[in-house]
Amino acid sequence: MKRARRLRFLTSAGAIALAALVSVAAASMGAAADAGPKVWWQVSGPTVQPAAAIGAPAKGCLAGGQALPLAGAGYEVMRPSRRRTFGHPQLIAFITAFAAAAPAEGWPGLLVGDLAQARGGPTSSGHRSHQSGLDVDIWLQPVPEAGITAAEREALSAVSVVAADGARVDARRWTAAHQRLIRTAASFAEVDRIFVNPAIKQALCDGAGDAGAGERSWLRKVRPWWGHDSHMHIRLACPDASSACEVQPPIPEGDGCGADLAWWFSAEAAEEATKKAKAPPARALTLDDLPPACRTVLLNE
Ligand SMILES: [Zn+2]
Repeated sequence: MKRARRLRFLTSAGAIALAALVSVAAASMGAAADAGPKVWWQVSGPTVQPAAAIGAPAKGCLAGGQALPLAGAGYEVMRPSRRRTFGHPQLIAFITAFAAAAPAEGWPGLLVGDLAQARGGPTSSGHRSHQSGLDVDIWLQPVPEAGITAAEREALSAVSVVAADGARVDARRWTAAHQRLIRTAASFAEVDRIFVNPAIKQALCDGAGDAGAGERSWLRKVRPWWGHDSHMHIRLACPDASSACEVQPPIPEGDGCGADLAWWFSAEAAEEATKKAKAPPARALTLDDLPPACRTVLLNE
């Protein structure tokens, strides 16, 4: 009797331990992005809600997202297995219009990289931004003449247009069509800013000539940033109906070709780059870090 009771006790203790283990495992599975059973990169699809970009590009999510078809007039989507082909409908409309405008600038077709996940939110790898459905990466190489196969869609690598020393663009790869492509992107009113490598910004500044401030005004939207040597990162402004969309800090006046750009080629910037390379990876965002509306978006059926 005593022995049986002890066995029963052990059994229930074992059950409690097992339950605790299961809940710890469940929590750690979801810990990277949320505390529930779902994670942002495993959702079934976009929510059926009015479209809204919520929060900021690096801390937000997307309601009522739309998928960009894998191929269309003037573009091909790369790496579809990452399932980052979703955006706010205004982003999808922009990409479609940009792809239609590119051939006239001598760019045969866009290779489209990441947009957002079906409901936006933090990703399991890579990007910190692209969370609110307003960001898209466009490769700085056109669709190859022969088109691309399904295998190439996954395997083709983006090639840097920046020289190894980082001080200038690679003359073998950089063309006047690159300049026209980026200017065309910047000329869309809905585009808020475009991130490119500092050497690319420098090439754009040098290539724009001095045809008066009006002709150079598009340069203001093109912002130097780390990396971004094989793609440009285009970010749209908050759409009108997205009241929970966090407006980005304003861009300084001017074309951004002066002292601000020069800093990127300074010893201080080089030190900063080394520091960044050595820094431990940033803490993964949890659901509590995101705007409250994102909880509803993630847990929505
Ligand atoms: Zn990007």
